[in-house]
Amino acid sequence: MYKSFLIKYAEIAIKGKNRYLFEDALVSQINLSLKKVDGEFLVRKEQGRIYVDALSDYDFDEVVDALTKVFGIVGICPVVLLEDEGFDKLAEEVISYIDKVYPDKNFSFKVNARRARKNYPMESMEINAAMGERILKAYPQTHVDVHKPDVMINIEIRNKINVYSTVIPGPGGMPVGTNGKAMLLLSGGIDSPVAGYMIAKRGVAIDATYFHAPPYTSERAKQKVVDLAKIVARYSGPINLHVVNFTDIQLYIYEQCPHEELTIIMRRYMMKLAEHFAKEQKCLGLITGESIGQVASQTMQSLAATNEVCTMPVYRPLIGFDKQEIVTISEKIDAYETSILPFEDCCTIFVAKHPVTKPNLNVIHNDEKKLAEKIDQLMQEAINSVEVIHIEG
Ligand code: ATP
Ligand code: MG
Repeated sequence: MYKSFLIKYAEIAIKGKNRYLFEDALVSQINLSLKKVDGEFLVRKEQGRIYVDALSDYDFDEVVDALTKVFGIVGICPVVLLEDEGFDKLAEEVISYIDKVYPDKNFSFKVNARRARKNYPMESMEINAAMGERILKAYPQTHVDVHKPDVMINIEIRNKINVYSTVIPGPGGMPVGTNGKAMLLLSGGIDSPVAGYMIAKRGVAIDATYFHAPPYTSERAKQKVVDLAKIVARYSGPINLHVVNFTDIQLYIYEQCPHEELTIIMRRYMMKLAEHFAKEQKCLGLITGESIGQVASQTMQSLAATNEVCTMPVYRPLIGFDKQEIVTISEKIDAYETSILPFEDCCTIFVAKHPVTKPNLNVIHNDEKKLAEKIDQLMQEAINSVEVIHIEG
């Protein structure tokens, strides 16, 4: 029954020119996400509002599902748009709207009129009272509750009259594309997809780097990361996933360095390589799924050691989160079931029994000298053999 959706957005204390940037980015993200939905749609800005008009038949749930993944949207309101043909006609339309949307009339309601067009002959309060009366007369089972109504009937008098009573929550945040791009270190675990989602939510476009170690890690493990990238891309838009062969670097570190430092040194080389691709893709930062104290490589000392090799800012949106809080978001974005599939991670293959939890930077620097002979060449080979997979959500 709905031909249009009214899109509500916030963070719009953003003034002047920024407001247009925000709105234009939101319109283009909505268009992008509706491409995946059957049907033809028009997304338009009008008087500081964004509307989605359906120009053909469409599936309501599919459209709502697409819109709930567009950052920047706070609310999705299926709306009926009416020509102004006088109050009697409006009341008739509202009464028939209620009949269609609420077959069971046992509810309390409030009319919330807003006169955005000042030449309308009635004031908001008058409309509220008169419309309330008409509704009560048509449906005596209903009653008015101005404090906690079951149904809020919004009537906005604009060029057209907007009638809506449902606000489906959107994901919030800012439209992707309003805040540059960052490189996500994406593993097959629970944390990094959530980290990517959270930074994308702030309007940041995402590319990703995944390190694998064939033949120690399988094609299935790689496919799992591709699947996770697809899940993140439903929200962030397209992702260029860089798949880096890390085997020789990992083996070389294993041969040359003390095993309890393996993870830390490995993670330093991961960051360096990710930063290389980040610069190539004009990213402004790196993103990881690290959280303080979660494992040996995420103590404050370990994070400092990993961080030291980066010249770009490293964003760690989960830094203060407990595992359960991360799992809750992972489930919300439908990544959890994929993340817990049991495929080996390249980091876990050569893990020491007792990894250092408080790495000393001087010691690490010294041990890394043992890599001098071949590491530059191995890094270059890893860069040259990168496979870039373009992922659409
Ligand atoms: P996750 O659940 O994201 O795998 P984790 O709890 O397993 O995280 P670590 O293995 O210590 O933690 O990894 C910390 C972060 O380093 C990850 O969140 C991710 O950003 C990055 N990372 C780890 N392994 C890889 C990998 N194989 N490829 C790309 N990034 C990785
Ligand atoms: Mg992991």
